[in-house]
Amino acid sequence: WSSENVAVVTGSNRGIGLEIARQLASHGLTVVLTARNVDAGLEAVKSLTCQEGLKVEFHQLDVTDASSIKEFGCWIKQTFGGLDILVNNAGVNYNLGLDNSVEFAETVISTNYQGTKNMIKAMIPLMRPSPHGARIVNVSSRLGRVFGRRNRLANVELRDQLSNPDLLTEELIDRTVSKFIDQVNDGTWESGGWPQTLTDYSISKLAVNAYTRLTAKELSRRREGEKIYVNSFCPGWVKTAMTGFAGNMSPEDAADTGVWLSLVLSQEAVSGKFFAERREINF
Ligand code: NDP
Repeated sequence: WSSENVAVVTGSNRGIGLEIARQLASHGLTVVLTARNVDAGLEAVKSLTCQEGLKVEFHQLDVTDASSIKEFGCWIKQTFGGLDILVNNAGVNYNLGLDNSVEFAETVISTNYQGTKNMIKAMIPLMRPSPHGARIVNVSSRLGRVFGRRNRLANVELRDQLSNPDLLTEELIDRTVSKFIDQVNDGTWESGGWPQTLTDYSISKLAVNAYTRLTAKELSRRREGEKIYVNSFCPGWVKTAMTGFAGNMSPEDAADTGVWLSLVLSQEAVSGKFFAERREINF
């Protein structure tokens, strides 16, 4: 990897995304730091370029806004001819601790799942062929595990469908999140058999994990030299704004697995897997 390689990190003005951007740039890559808020993004870029001397560019990007994604894709193509690494980090969660309001469920699903999905769809055609293989890394959460012992879907058939690569489709994932939103809107979600902790957030990350596997399957037939490896990881419980700066990990340590998945040698790269602390864990 070198400064010829371009890595894009969504939601990287702060928290884990900022750290992933910093660490990728420290490995010598050209990093595109993106943020929905231009001032916040430029401030973050300034800290990495002026103070740390890293090679970091900025572009505005709101992952819930189709025109913002389109404009970003156009800029990436014009400026760099494409990209090599996409880290889908942007995310929201409106519940702290044991609160479990679903007041912002639509925003949570549209940012965490649909934003990730729409970025993947828009960036795949722009990913450059490389001997390393291009990389997509989705920042997810153990809360979204289909097979987690706690906090899982009650519907066994749905669990089986979401975990069986032969049954998994985009339509199934979309239908699952839409059903949840419908139940939020008609007030019946609590008896819907959904995960019971941070319900909207957990469902959004379950969908991210499922979409990771689906994308990996769809990309698996690519020829050598045109490969794209796509994986997701859980950063742990991290001291960022999202947790009210609770948590037991620093953003620096939390970024590590995402950076490792972005840069791991192609001979060791896998696709369609879920990781924590550099180890594969089950979905
Ligand atoms: P932060 O709240 O610190 O950072 C979230 C980032 O996402 C911010 O830069 C935020 O921008 C950005 N963002 C939110 N909505 C959008 C949008 N529509 N378009 C573009 N950017 C957006 O949280 P973390 O750093 O903790 O979270 C990073 C990722 O890690 C998330 O995906 C989260 O779900 C995941 N994660 C975090 C855990 C933790 O314990 N902290 C645990 C497991 C997973 P803005 O500043 O404008 O709000």
